Amino acid sequence: MPSRNTAGTDGSPNDASAERSGPSPLEVALIDAAPRYLVPFHPKQLPHFFTDVLIIGGGLAGLRAANAIDPFLQVLVLTKEALEQSNSNYAQGGIAGVVAPEDRFEDHVADTLTAGGSLCDRAVVELVVREAPQRIAELIQWGTHFDEQAGTLALGREGGHSHHRIVHALGDATGREVMRAVIEWTRRLRNVHIWENTFTLDLLTHEGACRGALAVDQHGRMTMVWAKQTILCTGGLGQLYRESTNPPVATGDGYAMALRAGAQMRDMEFVQFHPTVLYIAGSSRMLISEAVRGEGAYLVDRNGYRFMHDYDSRGELAPRDVVSQAIVSQMDKTRHPCVYLDLSHVDAQFTRQRFPGIAEACGKFGIDIAVDRIPVRPGAHYMIGGVTVDIEGRTSLPGLWAAGEVTSSGLHGANRLASNSLLEGLVYGAHAGAGASREALAISDTFRAPPLENTHQPQPTEPLDVSDICNSLKSLMWRAAGVRRNRDALSDAQDSIENWRRYVLARQFDEPQGWELQNMLMLATIVIRAALARTESRGVHLRTDFPDKDDANWSRHLSFRRREPDVPAIPGE
Ligand SMILES: Cc1cc2nc3c(=O)[nH]c(=O)nc-3n(C[C@H](O)[C@H](O)[C@H](O)COP(=O)(O)OP(=O)(O)OC[C@H]3O[C@@H](n4cnc5c(N)ncnc54)[C@H](O)[C@@H]3O)c2cc1C
Repeated sequence: MPSRNTAGTDGSPNDASAERSGPSPLEVALIDAAPRYLVPFHPKQLPHFFTDVLIIGGGLAGLRAANAIDPFLQVLVLTKEALEQSNSNYAQGGIAGVVAPEDRFEDHVADTLTAGGSLCDRAVVELVVREAPQRIAELIQWGTHFDEQAGTLALGREGGHSHHRIVHALGDATGREVMRAVIEWTRRLRNVHIWENTFTLDLLTHEGACRGALAVDQHGRMTMVWAKQTILCTGGLGQLYRESTNPPVATGDGYAMALRAGAQMRDMEFVQFHPTVLYIAGSSRMLISEAVRGEGAYLVDRNGYRFMHDYDSRGELAPRDVVSQAIVSQMDKTRHPCVYLDLSHVDAQFTRQRFPGIAEACGKFGIDIAVDRIPVRPGAHYMIGGVTVDIEGRTSLPGLWAAGEVTSSGLHGANRLASNSLLEGLVYGAHAGAGASREALAISDTFRAPPLENTHQPQPTEPLDVSDICNSLKSLMWRAAGVRRNRDALSDAQDSIENWRRYVLARQFDEPQGWELQNMLMLATIVIRAALARTESRGVHLRTDFPDKDDANWSRHLSFRRREPDVPAIPGE
């Protein structure tokens, strides 16, 4: 179990002495996560549904968990939109694993630890790396067609990996093929039921344990879902930022509902940005894969100047965080909203054949990638922090397990190694599923709902322009808690968000856009507090006012937990 330290501290970003003297010695910062539930409900007015295991989220982690549940048990999977809408489905590069005979587990472990900036948990890294070949073999058995070369798996290599060890599919559409196979495989399981287009609002807790969730379907019908065990697999929060590679479902609902329910979270300052995301007004923010730079593309500024060697001797192939930071600096220097990828010196026919998807997407906007420069800038890509889980996928809240991007397992430390996240979802999905299954089997059926209700009815108020606040929040997060951070910008952002929270969280909404905004405001508060508190630069967290790594004070995690109503606020919080 993760530590259930109840000591309160704020590691307070508002407390100047914290910056002078390093972090507070206490472990868990308490955060105001009121209200406990987003909507009022009463058990006598709602339908009830009983299952053995509830899985919230149907991406790779959620479906892998579903496959680990004993067939004797009933399983319900909830997804916010269609099953195909998940970060997993959009994954491009592939899944890392030691499958080549000349590769070694020790090297994959070492590469992961090096990327992680001294914050990885070695036992977790060992576990995940050593399980990778088995999990990849399982995907093949379930019908995934990975790309092959001369009859064996074709292995790619990405930044930070010392060997070719990335299995991929459909060239650069690995997620689409893996999810096609896993969805088909899971739909055949007779004990697994999937409710698509069903928004989970909150986890239901009673007597200190998670007992299921409150869900609402696309017609606005609410159901109290009771489960012996619940597994949270709701993915990331890229939509918190104006620029992001994540699909619209990634609004971070799972983090917010876990926090409201009392689960511990950590490492929320570590948001990974992808350096090259297509930047064309009106286009989707498509990720332009590292492979484009791998094939020789230059990064140039608005004046055509190739700038990467001014920042790092590895040039365009420096690690993601270094390239992202260099791009933002060059955008500032040239006062221009983007930089450009230039492939005009590479053979045109090769370029169009090697990157057909990117060529097609850019072509729609009149850009020929073999000739014209491709406008790009960094975008939020992957959330490293999340709900703290132990090696089995158990959270600090009894009855609640978690797997995938929504978690902080200790695998990634302060920076995720490319293609380790689908792998993490597979490994932790399998473990959390097995653990939840084991515990659910030991609990007998009662079909009785606990006496749980939320009678709080907010006062009716003027309607709000939810989209307007949402856009303002995303822009603010991009400016203040993006690739480069500093105390002044973070503190100003904290004030604005606190102001919005005051009137947005006090409201009651009846559709997903409002609930998502409430969740995003909660998360923005934590990301900013964590980013303010960590007065150093490490991994993906760059503080321009504290540019160095500070091992003496900061070789540790920052954790957060909901402040219970009877615990007084800490001055400065
Ligand atoms: C463009 C892109 C490329 C990537 N490429 C790679 C790669 O090559 N290799 C790699 O390892 N990683 C890659 N990643 C990261 C990786 O895809 C994700 O980290 C991983 O897929 C997360 O899986 P998950 O199952 O945890 O979450 P997801 O796949 O995001 O699934 C989340 C699920 O939760 C559901 N959900 C969310 N909120 C609610 C709610 N309120 N109610 C009900 N359901 C909800 C969603 O509907 C969805 O079913 C990439 C990510 C992106 C965006």
